[in-house]
Amino acid sequence: MSSLAFIGLGANLDAPARQLWQALHHLAALPQSRLLQCSSFYASKPMGPQDQPDYVNAVAVLETGLEPLALLDALQAIEERQGRVRQRRWGERTLDLDLLLFGDQRLDLPRLQVPHYGLKDRDFVLLPLWELAPELVLPDGQPLAALVPEAEALAKVAEPL
Ligand code: ATP
Ligand code: MG
Ligand code: MG
Repeated sequence: MSSLAFIGLGANLDAPARQLWQALHHLAALPQSRLLQCSSFYASKPMGPQDQPDYVNAVAVLETGLEPLALLDALQAIEERQGRVRQRRWGERTLDLDLLLFGDQRLDLPRLQVPHYGLKDRDFVLLPLWELAPELVLPDGQPLAALVPEAEALAKVAEPL
């Protein structure tokens, strides 16, 4: 059985928009999976330390037969392949891939909490998610549309071909 997984992409090093494109190619090549759609790319300010470049963010939808933890492993392998180095919390990175939603599932495992804990508070997640799925209802029954009016507009980034 396959599930719809929404994945948050973020990058602020080494040509961030290109990192997102590369990540989309890697996502499209995952086993038992089909990349269905990706939002526009959005520019956003860093969340943690402010002495780092602005981010490019997007959300992608994957139809996958992988289990959630297998998908997390795959996302972390892609982060590594694209040179992710963890130095400081919310610090600069070539690529962050967060599993935002996995169907209607709610998971609270040591390595994986779904829905992602920051989903409702982050405009750079809410806006691209809303672009893809304006009718989405979160697993707790809250419609996404109820959260979006609070979100500040973000500029879309021109996407290099
Ligand atoms: P944030 O999670 O606040 O966005 P971050 O993305 O920079 O910060 P990471 O260093 O990418 O944090 O991930 C830290 C850990 O979060 C990972 O080792 C992973 O096991 C765990 N994690 C828990 N839930 C999720 C999820 N839904 N998606 C991705 N990682 C998750
Ligand atoms: Mg993150
Ligand atoms: Mg992460």
